Amino acid sequence: MSRAIAVIGAGPSGFYAVDGLMRALPDVRIDIIDRLPCPYGLVRYGVAPDHQGTKGVQRQFERLLARPGVRFLGNIEVGRDVTIAELAALYDALIIATGCSRDRRLGIPGEELKGVVGSGAFVGWYNGHPDFAELDPLRPDMRHVAVIGAGNVAIDVARVLAKTADEMAKSDIAPQAASAIAQLDIAEIAIVARRGPADANFTGNELAELGRLAAFRPAVDGDVVAEAAPPDSDPAPERMRKNRNLEILRTFVTADGTHRTRILRFAFWHTPMALHGEEGHVQALELADTRHPDRHWRIPTDLVVTCIGYDPAPPPGLPLEGGRIAHDEGRVRGMPGAYVVGWAKRGPTGVIPTNRVDAMALVKTVVADLAEAPASGKPGPAGLDNMLAGRGLKPLHTAAWQCIETAENAAGQAQGRPRVKLATWEALIDGSQRSGA
Ligand code: NAP
Repeated sequence: MSRAIAVIGAGPSGFYAVDGLMRALPDVRIDIIDRLPCPYGLVRYGVAPDHQGTKGVQRQFERLLARPGVRFLGNIEVGRDVTIAELAALYDALIIATGCSRDRRLGIPGEELKGVVGSGAFVGWYNGHPDFAELDPLRPDMRHVAVIGAGNVAIDVARVLAKTADEMAKSDIAPQAASAIAQLDIAEIAIVARRGPADANFTGNELAELGRLAAFRPAVDGDVVAEAAPPDSDPAPERMRKNRNLEILRTFVTADGTHRTRILRFAFWHTPMALHGEEGHVQALELADTRHPDRHWRIPTDLVVTCIGYDPAPPPGLPLEGGRIAHDEGRVRGMPGAYVVGWAKRGPTGVIPTNRVDAMALVKTVVADLAEAPASGKPGPAGLDNMLAGRGLKPLHTAAWQCIETAENAAGQAQGRPRVKLATWEALIDGSQRSGA
């Protein structure tokens, strides 16, 4: 009897694991389980809506969904609808690929004020993630925005807020986010970094794009950039990346402001200390100079988006260590047959293809362990179908997802966009049941 494996989480690391498993075990049966009705995880809900090229990897994942033996079971939440222990009894192996879905917090006073939003929620909102359909983070009278963090997510957030409706015309930004952003009249977006320009995690292409915006001019303190250099101890590729960032930032010192009166400012060496508000809404961000911590000042801000990383929120029933799933080289500790991969394993670092490398290494471990394990006779997909049916639960399979996709693509075609996302739970469930696929 062929092996049966459940992959929990239909994002990039889950799909890369499926790819590796299909290559190594051609007759394997794989169920990919996700709480959302849609597959592709961060490709759909994390990658910026104006970076369609990055989403091209989706086609590779689509081909995997079409393979015999691979099923998608959407709208099934592990922990709510079925437990880890139940899945472990049904499958020869479980691969946890649930990523990092919880926004880290700054841990400073005032973080609970309205207008202070984590990047997971904010990015989810503009990308049409149904959990954030009600977020409503913008007010048309907002003039000042602070984006905290010096990574590519901070760049994404600043750019999506800065781009004009024309610049976003070919994107798949969620319709309600597109219209809320189009009403804004922002004077300044500050990207606030607690360390210097040579310490930023930006990558060159993403940073350079900020120099080509139609309405916003990038600005940075010339002295701060002039004195910066990567340490000699950095490996050569890191030094190259950092030097490229510094070159780009130097062009921002003198960036042309004739036609671009709005400012996208890089504020390096600034540590957030507190958020101040009135009537429950944020009004100012208090900062300290990282190098002279006794120097504090406040900048006005109507919206703060914290882009400071994420933590995993794995399904219950797994051993944890410091908030993460406890594992040894991907093997979940104390749970033979259970594995973890991707951001759920490593934390929120690396680009999408980084997860391919990680998943391929894990697949080797899984395949080696299975080779040593006697045939289990576990029921796999048929067993899960029985269990879910007994609970009155109907997973949304690939065909249901394709109905959603067909509806989104058709709406997109009418507007010259790649797709117009169905962005609420109701719309997704309704779309999954409309025939057309
Ligand atoms: P990131 O690159 O780790 O950046 C997080 C930033 O938050 C760092 O600058 C960090 O500063 C700062 N930070 C953390 N805690 C802070 C605090 N308490 N106060 C102030 N600042 C704080 O993470 P990310 O931007 O979320 O990106 C996650 C991963 O996805 C990265 O690997 C990124 O490259 C990738 N990504 C790629 C793309 C793309 O390729 N286009 C787009 C989006 C994301 P310190 O360095 O001082 O800790």
